[in-house]
Amino acid sequence: MNVILVGPPGSGKGTQAAELVNRFALRHLSTGDLLRAAVRGGSELGQRIAGILAAGELVPDALMTEIVAERLRALPDGWLLDGYPRTVPQAEALIALLDELGRAEPAVVVLEVADDEIVRRLAGRLGCADCGAITSRAEAEAVAATMGDQGLRCPRCHGARLATREDDGEGTVRNRLSVFRSQTQPASERLGRRYRLARVDGRGATADVAQRIAGALAAAH
Ligand code: AMP
Repeated sequence: MNVILVGPPGSGKGTQAAELVNRFALRHLSTGDLLRAAVRGGSELGQRIAGILAAGELVPDALMTEIVAERLRALPDGWLLDGYPRTVPQAEALIALLDELGRAEPAVVVLEVADDEIVRRLAGRLGCADCGAITSRAEAEAVAATMGDQGLRCPRCHGARLATREDDGEGTVRNRLSVFRSQTQPASERLGRRYRLARVDGRGATADVAQRIAGALAAAH
């Protein structure tokens, strides 16, 4: 099974991707994680794109498509793609690549969350400067408490260097949302004309949303 997960910033896309990857033993390809790792590592690619990510803009299509195509060529069926495609040209490139590679048709899942809920969620979101994990303030406080610490701790590596993700500032969030509406929604519509597409309500507890997605995927297969 191949899955393309689409959702606005703050829709729980990363959290749900991790759930799906575990539940269905998929390989996870997240373009956001890849790009953030490049920025943290200070590679040439990282230096080129740091400003783009910080502003909430999109990395150019040709570069993204090259990065994703290189990885997808090496992956057998059984993957989850998170963060790509984000524009109509990326969607066209992905459809052409999957046709060329003769891969199983992916199921597309679109997470739906209203804008005011997104802004509320992102205000409490933190990123770990050490391992790159994304967590909420409440979760980081709970992890710290279990370690006898009053501050914030990363649930993955237990590091204490947690901060608001650089692209989660209010102006950048607005920009990312408007980029999502103007560019990524048309891309998912393009995918929906070619593949099965399910829209899933992204509100509520992580486990409930995961259950809805699993139901939608079962119906698609
Ligand atoms: P994400 O973690 O998926 O929200 O991605 C974080 C940021 O990485 C986005 O706001 C973009 O700046 C960049 N990015 C990730 N995937 C893509 C893509 N497919 N095309 C262009 N930019 C991307």
